[in-house]
Amino acid sequence: MLTYSKRLDSISESVTLKLNALVSELKAKGEKVINLTAGEPDFSPPQAANEAVIQAVHDHQSKYTPVAGYPELRQAVADKTNLQQSEIKVPWVGNNVVISNGGKQALYNTFLSILNDGDEVIIISPFWLTYPEVVKLAGGVPKIIETTLESGYKLSANQLKEAITSKTKAVIINSPSNPTGAMYTKEELKSLGDVILGHSKKDSLWVISDEIYDRIILDDVEFCSFLNANPQLQNQTVTVNGMSKSSAMTGWRVGWTVANLKLTQAIIKVQGQTTSGINSLAQWASIAALKLDETQFKAQVESFKRRRNLVLEILSKSEKIKRFKPQGAFYVFFEIGMDSVEFAEKLLEKKKVAVIPGTAFGNSQAVRISFATDETSLKEGCSRIVEFIEEEVK
Ligand code: PLP
Repeated sequence: MLTYSKRLDSISESVTLKLNALVSELKAKGEKVINLTAGEPDFSPPQAANEAVIQAVHDHQSKYTPVAGYPELRQAVADKTNLQQSEIKVPWVGNNVVISNGGKQALYNTFLSILNDGDEVIIISPFWLTYPEVVKLAGGVPKIIETTLESGYKLSANQLKEAITSKTKAVIINSPSNPTGAMYTKEELKSLGDVILGHSKKDSLWVISDEIYDRIILDDVEFCSFLNANPQLQNQTVTVNGMSKSSAMTGWRVGWTVANLKLTQAIIKVQGQTTSGINSLAQWASIAALKLDETQFKAQVESFKRRRNLVLEILSKSEKIKRFKPQGAFYVFFEIGMDSVEFAEKLLEKKKVAVIPGTAFGNSQAVRISFATDETSLKEGCSRIVEFIEEEVK
């Protein structure tokens, strides 16, 4: 008899797969489905990135790259991070950076490098659906801490204090957040950092700060990197980021970790024996894109703002929808007062609109829509959601 890895027994299958299969089925029948599930910007990558790839092809940049990435790219990432973390004592250098296949591999590398069997990792719910799975695959135990719409889907200092046990190894912070768009202020991040600094385990706790939506800020507030609020935690914080969301380069698969030298060496070991590093051409594209001025991305961010406002305005037409105004990223997360999987399946069947059930993110009574799509689809899709809720939800 063939047997399969027990390691996968505790890993959830993506609840979005079922939905995607239904969407494909409907599309194959010629039905027009409004798809509000996209986890990626609908914009093109920067022209400079495209040109850099073409140039790299002409320059025969086709060999293995260093496992941790080209020095030029590692340095560009260190420079970007130093700008966002101006309060840290010792600026990062290229040697603190590992370029990986997206932020997702950056997280896998990190947890494989820090976790031992049974170590707990604090995950704030609603969470990006990969967090619990990566922790489990690396032998850890996800410790999910619930937050509510009323608390802005943010973890309080008290909650963090109570969540830390003798087994806690790390906490994941994701601001702006997928799926809620919640963003922590500098003061809020500092209050979380103070809990760690004041804890008896302060020297053995890691903070993984996933900052992949750093550029997509929808209100007049400033993005704050975790370490800029907590420079004393530099040695034990891993900043995860990448090109996918902020530079509309999801398919190029470029992400990274910025961490202390010892952890960076461990991550290089993991990556060296798994993927050997990332695609050479995408690295040259990223070097070019990281040189661009913020103004180059202003139009995209403005467009996301308009779309966020449009979605919220339409959803406000039903009092049954408990909305949350996202300050960052490109999702609206709202509570619907019924089971989210049933909601998503029925909505697709009856109104031909695809959304992601909140169950995937740890909240079974909510759904996530993405506004990374054109305004016509958003208007029509959200109007149908309102209609559906008025018809179906008691
Ligand atoms: N972190 C968060 C919160 C995300 O939403 C995503 C993608 O959806 C990632 C990390 C990983 O992105 P990528 O692997 O494309 O860099």
